[in-house]
Amino acid sequence: MNSDPLPRSHHSVCPGCGAVLKDIDGPTHPYMLSSPTCFAAYTELLAFEYSDPALMPTHRLSVDAFAVQHPGDGVSRQAIQSVGLHLARLAVQLQHLHVPNRSADIMLLLGKYKGELEALSPPIEFSMTIADVQADAGTPAHICAVTNWAKSAWNDWREHHDYILDWAERHLSIDNR
Ligand SMILES: [Zn+2]
Repeated sequence: MNSDPLPRSHHSVCPGCGAVLKDIDGPTHPYMLSSPTCFAAYTELLAFEYSDPALMPTHRLSVDAFAVQHPGDGVSRQAIQSVGLHLARLAVQLQHLHVPNRSADIMLLLGKYKGELEALSPPIEFSMTIADVQADAGTPAHICAVTNWAKSAWNDWREHHDYILDWAERHLSIDNR
């Protein structure tokens, strides 16, 4: 982590994950609010995964880690539901929640109940961001870097683990009995 809280010139702090990255102009996601640079690093990471089948095993972790680190304004239902669903899918992958049908689409299964999800206050800061993963994207260290990033993102949300685990376990057990 950078001990200097002030961004260097021509750098900016991502409003979602807090990554300090060089400024660029570019698109951002409509509700996973981020700096354009952070979003560009994310789309680049995904491009490596789409182009190399060996990297696909961590693809869902990449998507989930980015989503829960960019929780948006905490007001729009879309943003609230995105955070809850992606936290739940991280839990399924990292906490090994019981999912009887391994091929089940977790987002589809749990998506039916997304209207119940409450707004969760995000962590004050994240211990790892895409800035820590960027250099490893597409290299032999890709899988390891993304896995560590996803674990840290899940861990940083620890205040809400019980809420997410309860919610996900309740619905997954009902739907798979
Ligand atoms: Zn970011």
